[in-house]
Amino acid sequence: MPKVALIGRPNVGKSTLFNTLIGERKAVVERTPGVTRDRVYGEAEIEGRRVTFIDTGGLEPEEGDLLKQETLRQAEAALKEADLVLLVVEAKTGLTPLDEEVAELVRASGKPLILVVNKVDGKRDLLNLSEFYALGLEPLVPISAKHRRGLEDLIQLILERLPEEGPPEEEGKAPVVKVALLGRPNVGKSSLLNRLVGYERMIVSDIPGTTRDSIDTLLELPDGRRYLLIDTAGIRRRARIKERVEKFSVDKAFEALERAEVALLVLTAEEGITDQDQKILSQIEKRHKACLILVNKWDLLDGKREEGNILLQQIRYGARFVPWAPILTVSAKTGRRVAEILPLVDEIYAEYSRRVPTSQVNRALEEIRKERPLYTPSGKRLKFYYATQAEIRPPTIVIFTNYPEEIPKSVERFVRNRLREYLGFTKTPIKVLFRPRR
Ligand code: GDP
Ligand code: GDP
Repeated sequence: MPKVALIGRPNVGKSTLFNTLIGERKAVVERTPGVTRDRVYGEAEIEGRRVTFIDTGGLEPEEGDLLKQETLRQAEAALKEADLVLLVVEAKTGLTPLDEEVAELVRASGKPLILVVNKVDGKRDLLNLSEFYALGLEPLVPISAKHRRGLEDLIQLILERLPEEGPPEEEGKAPVVKVALLGRPNVGKSSLLNRLVGYERMIVSDIPGTTRDSIDTLLELPDGRRYLLIDTAGIRRRARIKERVEKFSVDKAFEALERAEVALLVLTAEEGITDQDQKILSQIEKRHKACLILVNKWDLLDGKREEGNILLQQIRYGARFVPWAPILTVSAKTGRRVAEILPLVDEIYAEYSRRVPTSQVNRALEEIRKERPLYTPSGKRLKFYYATQAEIRPPTIVIFTNYPEEIPKSVERFVRNRLREYLGFTKTPIKVLFRPRR
């Protein structure tokens, strides 16, 4: 999780700002020997991204000479940890020599920073900004932590400057792609799993899942690619003892889906897409999970090209609300195209994890703006000011707009589909959030 440190001399309002940023969340206080005020950590989720804020205490202002030493020492310690620095100063007192020293430290660290000028409660305080501009540190954002002004600007700047998502769990190892194998009884889930597990030289291990009796299967390929198949207990048991009774439980499918990143929905060449399959697909869509549709038992259509094409059209139509989900025709029985499943999952996962630069997102937004005017249900013209990708898995685009609460579903769908096209997300869903203009 990226760390954002609030650095500055005492009394500029760091703690006030910290508390505002972490909201209702609990702060974790770390007791550091020899420091009057403890270092405080707080987690927050801003526009879908999780961030740790660090409030670097300091001494009480009256402590004179020690004050300077200790402020700089604290600043230095926090700088080491931080991925992004909020250098906090305040407009009422104006720029002090200590501010300048702290600023110098931050500048020397080379860390990305935002110069936050606090206590800009009203217009009058804006007049004091010029001396802060003279520091030459950018960007500068005036706020009032106490009166909650300018916070959206600040949050926007933070989002833009956070580092890319950190490396996966273990360094040097491929990420574990979380996959759920879903589908009605008898579509061939256990046969497919058997095929997959039997494929290549793969290490297979059982890992207890989160609910009682559930077991996840970790597949590890010789080249290090790893997949966690979620809640495969029932499926694997069936694969062994050919047990035929299984009550199809949508709830159980949803539990597995919740933990998954990529859903493999298994259909068959016999039945095509059913109501239950559509129910699962709509959940996949609602939860912004990536998805690969497998049409199994394709061997039954051997030599029946026309029939196969019609069936695929029907499936595409039945799954029209997930137009990004690829469809792969397979046969667990003959092994047809089973070897293509995991490479396609990789491709989907890579796209699901993709990050698009802000400039590119805004060019796409510009194209959408040009396409046609958009309105709220009450006829107010919608304006999209600015957009940025806040999150991956799912790729999450935040759009700043004038009436975020009044975006009709149809407009949301239009914008989402267009963004997906312009940004080249062809095999994954994206999530779009509308936020008030800062
Ligand atoms: P820290 O020592 O940097 O953590 O500063 P604090 O958060 O403890 O704030 C110092 C003082 O400034 C407190 O009395 C706050 O209420 C006050 N303060 C914080 N933010 C603002 C603001 O935006 N405007 C004004 N007028 N006062 C503020
Ligand atoms: P599950 O209930 O979804 O796990 O389905 P199973 O893997 O137990 O398969 C159900 C039945 O379909 C079994 O009789 C399998 O032999 C058969 N089956 C599975 N895959 C295929 C396939 O690709 N082609 C054909 N023709 N039959 C299959």
